[in-house]
Amino acid sequence: MTEVAKMLEKIEGDNVKFIRLQFSDIQGQIKNVAIPVKQAEKALTDGISFDGSSIEGFARIEESDMVLKPDMDTYALLPWRPKEARVARFICDVYLPNGKPFEGDPRYVLKKTLAEAAEMGFSFNTGPECEFFLFKMVNGEPSIEFKDHGGYFDLAPTDLAEDVRRDIVLALTDMGFDVEASHHEVAESQHEIDFKYGDALKTADNVVTFRFVTKTIALMNGLHATFMAKPVYGINGNGMHVNCSLFKEGENAFFDPEAPLQLSDTSMHFIAGVLNHSKSITRVANPTVNSYKRLVPGYEAPVYIAWSASNRTALVRVPAPRGKSTRIELRSPDPTCNPYLTFAAILAAGIEGIKKEMQPPAGAAKNIFAMSEDERTKSHIETLPCDLITANKHFIEDELICKALGPHIVEGMNNIAKLEWDSFRTAVHPWEVEQYLARY
Ligand code: ADP
Ligand code: GLU
Ligand code: MG
Ligand code: MG
Repeated sequence: MTEVAKMLEKIEGDNVKFIRLQFSDIQGQIKNVAIPVKQAEKALTDGISFDGSSIEGFARIEESDMVLKPDMDTYALLPWRPKEARVARFICDVYLPNGKPFEGDPRYVLKKTLAEAAEMGFSFNTGPECEFFLFKMVNGEPSIEFKDHGGYFDLAPTDLAEDVRRDIVLALTDMGFDVEASHHEVAESQHEIDFKYGDALKTADNVVTFRFVTKTIALMNGLHATFMAKPVYGINGNGMHVNCSLFKEGENAFFDPEAPLQLSDTSMHFIAGVLNHSKSITRVANPTVNSYKRLVPGYEAPVYIAWSASNRTALVRVPAPRGKSTRIELRSPDPTCNPYLTFAAILAAGIEGIKKEMQPPAGAAKNIFAMSEDERTKSHIETLPCDLITANKHFIEDELICKALGPHIVEGMNNIAKLEWDSFRTAVHPWEVEQYLARY
């Protein structure tokens, strides 16, 4: 029996009536088209055509025909849809009508970068820690009113969102996620759900699915889930720390029991590569104007370009576990990022570090936030870009990262950053009115 025939049999056995074909735009927003089940065979064999010109960063109107081809490994039932007429989803790859992969498809970009690593014998694993807020809906609209006033690891009754978080975890588990932990985060109404690391492509698929499931289940409970990086001034923002490791022949290539700190040369080169490209990675991993309101001192988010084997003030931390769990944690990404592009950018930087055998500077042993500017300068600790347009400048000048993402995506991201920055720059912020209206 062919793969397609097996899949069709499964779809029928699951009583599926509708299929959602999903893919991501350049900003990592999930898009979807629903097809009735009788179209399944066509979708799985020839693909389904759609108009790419209506998708952010995809195509111009004159070259807009595109084709979605479902990746059969991504089949999952949507657990909250009616049992008598089930809905399944596939994540799709995007193709041009001539059968070639579309270079503006973020999933293609990640696959291409993973293939480069595979040529060197490496597979790339990522484990993201997605944080989000659960806010109240007010008059049918999302608000920034807290649902609860809990703090880190708090339990009910302070943590009123416990049931919603449980429903999210159950839905994710039904869809095949291996959830490792869920807890209240530091800020009021802030939460985190961690799922098991895995191959970066599957994990990027998981991140977009995670956001979609979390938002859906929250809304079913009358709440708004937001992954916005810094929705409320004065409290922690939402991070999406990315834990990364390379495996070679089934072994963790970052682990070396004989090396200092038991960290292999490969891991040191990888860290050096990531630090070297960290300013341009920031544009990818922190894509909104608001992302930069999170990357400020005082809220557990990184600001300074350094690595450390222990302390959480560094951009790159090496968590304590070793052996199979040896990993580096990049702390700058936030959950508004496009995970496909973010993982591709991190991997491209790390691979360059390995190829060039780059060495990172000495690890930061102490709290970087407590260091004076002078001390930081002496320790060669630079600062991350402070806003979107600065990060974008680093990005478009970074040949390696631009090559990894490809000209189509780079052009799209450059345009988006300039438009958003101009719109923000020319807006009159409430802060300005507060400061200047009465004074002048
Ligand atoms: P933190 O200590 O920063 O709060 P967590 O325990 O919340 O970290 O999350 C750790 C994440 O790292 C999980 O998603 C886990 O699956 C992932 N992880 C564990 N081992 C590896 C590995 N070898 N490569 C990549 N990620 C890993
Ligand atoms: N919310 C913090 C951030 O913005 C991270 C908190 C944590 O370490 O879990 O990155
Ligand atoms: Mg956290
Ligand atoms: Mg973390």
